[in-house]
Amino acid sequence: MNRYLALSMALGFSAPLGAQKTPGYGAQSASIERATEADAITRPSAQSSSVHSKFLSLQPHMAGTSAQARTRDYVIDKMKSWGLETEVRGYSVWMPHPLSTRVWRMAPDPIELNLQEGIVPEDTTSFAFPQVMAFNGYGAAGDVRGEVVYVNYGLIEDYAQLDSMGVSVKGKIAIARYGRSYRGIKAREAEKHGALGLIIYSDPADDGYVRGDVYPAGPMRPSHGIQRGSVMNPNGDPSTPGYPSTTNAKRIALAAMDVPHIPVLPISYGNATELLRGLAGKAIPQPWQGGLPFRYHVGPGPVQARIAVTTDATTNPYKQIWDTFGTIRGSEFPEEIVIIGGHRDAWGPGAADNVSGTVSVLEAARAVAEQVKAGKRPKRTIVFATWDAEEWGLIGSTEFVEEDSLRLARSAVAYLNQDDVAQGPNFGSGASSPSLRALLRDVAKGVPDPSGTGTVYSVWRKRANLAADTLEPEMGDPGGGSDFGGFYNHLGIPIADWGFGGPAGVYHSAYDSYHWMSKFGDPTFEYHATNARIGVAALLRIANAEILPYDYVEYARTMRRFSSQVERTIADKHWKLSAAVLSAAVGRMESAAVAFNAARDRALAAQLAPTIAKQVNTTLLGVERQLTRPQGLVTRPWFRNLIYASDENNGYATMALPSVNEAIRVGDETAVEREIADLVKRFDSATRVLEAATGLLQKS
Ligand SMILES: [Zn+2]
Repeated sequence: MNRYLALSMALGFSAPLGAQKTPGYGAQSASIERATEADAITRPSAQSSSVHSKFLSLQPHMAGTSAQARTRDYVIDKMKSWGLETEVRGYSVWMPHPLSTRVWRMAPDPIELNLQEGIVPEDTTSFAFPQVMAFNGYGAAGDVRGEVVYVNYGLIEDYAQLDSMGVSVKGKIAIARYGRSYRGIKAREAEKHGALGLIIYSDPADDGYVRGDVYPAGPMRPSHGIQRGSVMNPNGDPSTPGYPSTTNAKRIALAAMDVPHIPVLPISYGNATELLRGLAGKAIPQPWQGGLPFRYHVGPGPVQARIAVTTDATTNPYKQIWDTFGTIRGSEFPEEIVIIGGHRDAWGPGAADNVSGTVSVLEAARAVAEQVKAGKRPKRTIVFATWDAEEWGLIGSTEFVEEDSLRLARSAVAYLNQDDVAQGPNFGSGASSPSLRALLRDVAKGVPDPSGTGTVYSVWRKRANLAADTLEPEMGDPGGGSDFGGFYNHLGIPIADWGFGGPAGVYHSAYDSYHWMSKFGDPTFEYHATNARIGVAALLRIANAEILPYDYVEYARTMRRFSSQVERTIADKHWKLSAAVLSAAVGRMESAAVAFNAARDRALAAQLAPTIAKQVNTTLLGVERQLTRPQGLVTRPWFRNLIYASDENNGYATMALPSVNEAIRVGDETAVEREIADLVKRFDSATRVLEAATGLLQKS
């Protein structure tokens, strides 16, 4: 998946005046740490990034195939050779693979559409190995035909518009363009509105020649390029919702699984032309016009289509997936773990998505391993993970998090995510916990940008074109869409996620290849190496801190913006209740965080006893956990974190304070009042944890 499609962004805040330069470190340990990071960032290299990338993107490596065993072995072999302890964890996952996928135009004049992505002679990957069939993961098997209805992006509001035009998809084939929401939402809405099947295509206005020259002349999607991808909405193996897919795990029946029950297929805009050009019927609202060179209509018909999908769902639905782990034990706090991970599976060769993230994890591992050999071992344990089957619904990371939830809830200090990290020059953070944003900004200040014009931070800042010196570049809120979901949304572990974005024109296609990467995405592989440099510096900054370097002042200030929004929304509705109590609770947390930072800085300046530091850190691990609820959101129990969740009506967008805002959205005043009271209680628990940590420091 790709977090650059995230819709919801938040403005960051400057560090408060007078804050320490390296929060969590005393003066002496800070200078040692700065030197350690300066050494570490010299180690990831463009040259070895390119070697890893070439090997890992040699062939398509979809989850559940033998090609994925090859990437598993490569990562494990490398980590072993550098001296890491390694582990492979396998899960058996309900994941039907397609046996055949076909689409026809049945009327007016019948043709079968060619679902191959054509050969590009200069890109050997496009023909050396069979392409992954054009399909959407977890779409149903079936053979359906009917009149075609164009549903724009297939969003909830698009169906409302169709309703108002008197057009229904009931008993028809819906055709939607990609964009504006996660594709699983498009499938859910099409099924809900009675469509027999759904076709999703990449419109050139959003993803093709309207945006730039197409591959291989340019980086953008060519007329026969296809975006594959999952259409399942929940995270993890759908046959084991909320618990791990271990050998003897109880499996639920297909009918009970939260997956689409209609066939869904992706096609290119070349093929979509054959279905859309002949549509008649109602005039479209102007924003529904896409980039193809004719006027769009909604239909229904006279064009008719047929979709036929066969899968191995009845013969061989369970596939083996493999997560890999490389561990470096900490010297002082081995039971506290910092994790960096990226998914290893792809829909094609996956040079950008997500060989780039895998390479970043590998190069960061090599850097720390080399330092260990040179006698510098991090204080906390660092785990370098690669996940399988992310593309099907964050499956490898979710099953792991579900299996090790108690251990992780107790001991995971942070999770850093690497997904699609080097496909252009634009640095950004698609999703970060507000408690780790200051750390990520500071680390980016210490790493040179490949452009040669400054640090990653200064180039990022310049591009953000900020209106005031006090503002910081935007970072995304962690809602979903990549492997941080299990850690953040399910367990409340602080996360950070970053990468270098670019054209994204070959997303989930057979052309996301080493050739595309070498020609357009990151020709020098310097962005790969730079991303790993940020990774290793961030890992060490967290792993070596005397006091864990979370910023709960920034956290609370970010929350205050959301609680004020809730207050305004409720005031606009003229409801009797008020959310002022919520803002007051967030204000108490901010005061406690300010007091904690002051006590921390004083204690570190006066040499902190290691036994006290250990107690403070154990206490700090509890702050964000207080803002999770074991029973989760009313709409989705798996989402336990009450700070951010993916918007269940969009999938890519993030909803802040989801327990309250979902109740507001459905207009249930009683539920809103109950959820505000619940959240106030949890913010107050987080405040008490911070106060307890402050108390420990004051005793020292
Ligand atoms: Zn990805």
